[in-house]
This record gives sequence, C-alpha cells and structure tokens, in this order.
Amino acid sequence: MTFDLDALLRPNIRQLKPYTSARDEFQGRARIYLDANENPFDDSPFHRYPDPHHTDLRQKISSLIDLPADHIFLGSGSDEAIDLLIRAFCTPGEHSILTCPPTYGMYEVQANIHDVGIQQVLLTPEFQLDEPAILQALRPFTRIIFLCSPNNPTGNLLSRTSIKRLLEAFHGIVVVDEAYVDFADQPGLTDLLTTQPNLVLLRTFSKAWGLAGLRVGMALANPSIINVLYRIKLPYNLSQAAQSYLYTALDSHKAINQRINLIRTERRRVAQQLSSLPNVLQVYPSDANFLLVRFIDPQSTYRHLLSNGIVVRDRSRQPLCEGCLRITIGTPAENDQLLQALAEI
Ligand SMILES: *Cc1c(COP(=O)(O)O)cnc(C)c1O
Repeated sequence: MTFDLDALLRPNIRQLKPYTSARDEFQGRARIYLDANENPFDDSPFHRYPDPHHTDLRQKISSLIDLPADHIFLGSGSDEAIDLLIRAFCTPGEHSILTCPPTYGMYEVQANIHDVGIQQVLLTPEFQLDEPAILQALRPFTRIIFLCSPNNPTGNLLSRTSIKRLLEAFHGIVVVDEAYVDFADQPGLTDLLTTQPNLVLLRTFSKAWGLAGLRVGMALANPSIINVLYRIKLPYNLSQAAQSYLYTALDSHKAINQRINLIRTERRRVAQQLSSLPNVLQVYPSDANFLLVRFIDPQSTYRHLLSNGIVVRDRSRQPLCEGCLRITIGTPAENDQLLQALAEI
C-alpha cells in the first residue's frame, strides 16, 4: 500500500517550526539552571519544568509493553491524542473523519471542535465493522478512521481481519482506540505496527491502571507519526506530578493484573446473574470492564437504580442500543448492591 505521511499532514503542520523550550535547547546535566526563569528555591518538588519528551517514562513503558520508546506518545489522557491527530491530519472545513457508531463520543466532539466533517457508518447488528459500507463511504477528503476495540459502549472486540483489510485499503490514518484492551481475551494490535505505517493505537492509564484522575494516555505508532504528535503538543502537557507518580505506579503491574482478573471474574458473575433477571432482555458479551445490558424498561430501571444511589450510563438513545444501559463492573460489594437493586424491580 502507498502511505505518504507528508502528503497527509496539513501543510501548516508539515512546515511548522515547533516551540523550543529551555529543556529542548539544553538536555545535558548542569550544575546551575538559569535558563528557564524558574524559581530557584526548592520549596516544592515542582519548582522545575517537567521533561517535555517524557524520556524516562517512555523508556520504562517501552519495556513493559515491548515496543521501542520512539513508538510511544504520552498525552494528558488519550483524549489529547485524539485532539492532536485531528489537528495534524484534518484541515478545518475541508477534511473529515469516519466513525462507526455506536462508539465513543469523543471522536465526534473533537471533530466538531476543529470544524472537521464526520462521516458515520453504523456497525453491523453484531457490532462489527460493515466493511463494504465503510469502503464505499471513503472519499479523498476522509483523513482518519476512528475505530474502538473493545468498543465503548458495546464492549466487544472488532474483528482483527476487518481492521487489517481496512488498513490496507485506506491510505489515510486508522486509529484503533484500545482503552479497554487490558480486559480483553485477545492481545491488542501492537504487532501490526511494524507492517502498517498508517496505524495508530490509543491506550490509557485511566481504566485498567486505575489512574483516571492522573490524566495520562498513550498513542502507539510508527516514529514518523509519534514525532508529529510531539512537535504539535503543548510543551509541558504532562505535569511533573503526573510523570513522577506514573513512573512509580508502573512498578505495580503485577497487582494491576490481579485487579484486572478480579474485574473479569466479576464481569462473568454479574453477566450471569443479570441474564436471569426478568426485566433483562439481553446481556451483550464484553471484553471490557463494563456490560451493555438491554432492559424491558431502561428509563424506569435507570431511575430505580438512581433512587438506590447507583448511577449507570443510559445509552438507550444510541443507534443499535435501544433499551440499553451501560454498567461498569464495580467492586464485588458494589456489584452485589447493583444486582440486589435490580432484583427488587
Ligand atoms: C475511557 C475511554 C478513554 C480514556 O480516555 P482518557 O482521556 O485516557 O481518560 C479513551 N477511549 C475510550 C473509548 C474510552 O472509553
């Protein structure tokens, strides 16, 4: 396939002379730092600007996910990567992205913010990619296809073969948002990065890693795309607090795996119990940390749960999700309370 990154980049981004911070111009070790107008007194651990290149963090993550550091971009949540990808590849008023609803709402919101068009091709009733319809919808102005696997809110993995075929047929960027991949039965698509220069994977520390409040997410791609993201991000997009905390938190990956296993076990238990309730029409299979559940009366179910102090996500107005609530898997005790409240209806 022919993939021409320069041709895809917006001309202003291709020609951009990035801001160079004090920490760009000097990267060695000095005795005295008088280059960044910082406060010299170390009254707090945060008196210096943080590393704009996230060098130590990317090195550590690199060994954890078995991918070279130059394939890793770190942002303030994976939402930052969505924003930057649209900025880099879509000219406002001219280009468009393609999404496959029902899916994560952020792709559409970011496109709207940037005045970039949105082409939508519904998933099939099995929540898989409608490949012929996608191929038919593609236009020269289509720049990015946003896919989500495991998909939010449906919970299922998209077919790897479908994604591969799209990567080969489409000469723009294919983003696969893998926010929930740690909860899935299959590994993610990192192995495809070596052969597919137009693939971008999104990962986050907000879900399996339990660090939603820290705001760190990743884009994984070939270095040419990663370099573009580093050129256009805000210089200090990750605070020192976030970088230091995450650096230490990465040591607890064994404990994280235990948490993931517990959530997967609970997912099985909650799904089983839900499907035996009379007001539940369908519990969809899930590779994520939530269940999409179709109820006889979603609105009154939602209100009943709320009156019990339990809030879930109403997805019943999303296409293909009629009657559906999205329920996050909680702690075993929280799940018990959810099941009890639902049994009372
Ligand atoms: C939760 C979620 C994210 C995470 O976004 P962050 O900005 O990293 O917190 C990304 N994509 C999808 C599909 C999600 O559901």
